[in-house]
Amino acid sequence: MSQLLRVNMSDLSFKYEDVPEKYHHWAARGLTSSLTYDEVPPNCHPLGPDNKVIIAPGIVSGTNAPTSGRTSFGGKSPLTSTIKETNAGGLSSQKIARLGIKAIILEGQPDEKDKLWLLKVNKDGAELLPADNLKSKGMYEVCNILWKEHGEGVAIIGIGPAGENRMCAAGICVNDQENTAGRYAGRGGMGAVMGSKGIKAIVIDDKGGAGVQIADEKKFEAGIKKLEEASLGHDVTKREGALNTYGTNVLASIMHEAGGYPTRNFSSGRFEHTHQISGEAKVEMITKRNGEGTTGHACHPGCIIQCSDRWANPDGSFKVSVLEYESVWALGANCGIDDLDKIADLIWACNDVGVDTIEMGGTIAVAMEGNLLEFGNADGAIKLIHEEIRNATPLGRIIGNGTVTTGRAFGVTRLPVVKGQSMPAYEPRAVKGIGVTYATSTMGADHTAGYTIAPEILGVGGEMDPFAIEKAELSRNFQASTAFIDTTGYCLFDAFCVLDIPSGLEGMVESCAGVLGIDWTVDDIVPLGLEILRKERLFNEAAGFTRAHDRLPDFMTKEPLPPHNTVFDVPDDLLDAVYDFEQWPTEK
Ligand code: SF4
Repeated sequence: MSQLLRVNMSDLSFKYEDVPEKYHHWAARGLTSSLTYDEVPPNCHPLGPDNKVIIAPGIVSGTNAPTSGRTSFGGKSPLTSTIKETNAGGLSSQKIARLGIKAIILEGQPDEKDKLWLLKVNKDGAELLPADNLKSKGMYEVCNILWKEHGEGVAIIGIGPAGENRMCAAGICVNDQENTAGRYAGRGGMGAVMGSKGIKAIVIDDKGGAGVQIADEKKFEAGIKKLEEASLGHDVTKREGALNTYGTNVLASIMHEAGGYPTRNFSSGRFEHTHQISGEAKVEMITKRNGEGTTGHACHPGCIIQCSDRWANPDGSFKVSVLEYESVWALGANCGIDDLDKIADLIWACNDVGVDTIEMGGTIAVAMEGNLLEFGNADGAIKLIHEEIRNATPLGRIIGNGTVTTGRAFGVTRLPVVKGQSMPAYEPRAVKGIGVTYATSTMGADHTAGYTIAPEILGVGGEMDPFAIEKAELSRNFQASTAFIDTTGYCLFDAFCVLDIPSGLEGMVESCAGVLGIDWTVDDIVPLGLEILRKERLFNEAAGFTRAHDRLPDFMTKEPLPPHNTVFDVPDDLLDAVYDFEQWPTEK
């Protein structure tokens, strides 16, 4: 029987609780958002004692379901002031689940603000250990120290100096199978919330854990078989398919061609040096260097898509994992930087100091527009992260607090953000549906909240004109199904195959239903997702958000974007239709 582990940092106490019946079928995002909605006061300060960090594996995490190792981190975001769920791969999800823990809830706040703690969780329970020896250390060193002290193979969840200093761009890091720091629940500044609790790192050791109880083994096994067949049978997710061969950065050339690859702080939809930083270029360089670099890498055991990679330096030695699409774009094209080795250095620096690569790319591009440094100045950008943020200098604190803070500091008005969060790597003026998702998502600008790029650009799950503006229903359905997938523990990249192969979608749902012993079918996906979205939306409304916040930045409605020279022209009533509860179908 799974339990909730509460860690109260005000009095350094622990409590294991039975899971209330109302949370029985929730896990990962469904659970973090339900607990945040039920327990976190919407108007609390995100870095104060009333906020929480809720850490939850998915429904099928810890089983032998393929590609199912996502961990959700939820609470109120200091970056957006909205509810937040951000998730990562790596080792943590399966290990938390195998210890019979449905969620770890970090709450309260210690009196001693400068003291750091390490939370250790294993089959015997939890303990808090002093962690001042880890103060100001980057995540690469933290991972090495903790594997030496607590045994190779343990999962590590941690924050870098940015999180310790409560910077709003700070993410939460999870180690991978090689103990590399680099799997980030990056979005929304949840690393700062963990820092505000005084917790530098969490060690999860699942040795001797009870494992995950599966209520209906037959249904579960039949479900994962269907999903596995779909995953291995789809061009995007199969072995030697697009993701396995090129990683997510396969999208660079595609988005460039589509004119939707944001460049130099969203001033163009094409980057003239895309061919130097594309997925194809990455694979060619890794192959040519013939060293410790590799493609087709899994970020956790049991992933069969294996979209990750390990990048090698020119001398063949390992540098960083992973050069994924968003990070390469944010710190590359968006900053006018065209050198993959420099971009790898920037990603390494972000991973070490503990900041979100997307927010950092957005922020540095705005700083470049504000003349702090020129576009393309990779060494200057590295210095900002590696020295200024790491040492929490006054400039580092401005940059480390993200795009909006930096825009204010440098007088920049072209800020590509929604609800305070930087936009990812898809230009909403060239792909209208993703703009609708950015505008209306409960999380601020976030492509993973409702990835309409699939039908608008990739022809996955149907085909839609990217310039058409009637995308409210499309975005709502994608947001709802994503909320469901974010609850399962499956990687969102499974969506590519299940959108096209109906038996794969059935398998995904049946495997979850098998674990829970529940009668779900594919017809339940959208209603369940809407139930999650409704709670998130109501939390945001109680925190003061209105429809007026569901808008893209002013400049995008006025400034035509080359090469198509289009503006974002989705009218307000079509944006408002996404969260018009009266237009919603019946929820579960
Ligand atoms: S598909 Fe990629 S991101 Fe997803 S679990 Fe596998 S390696 Fe990690």
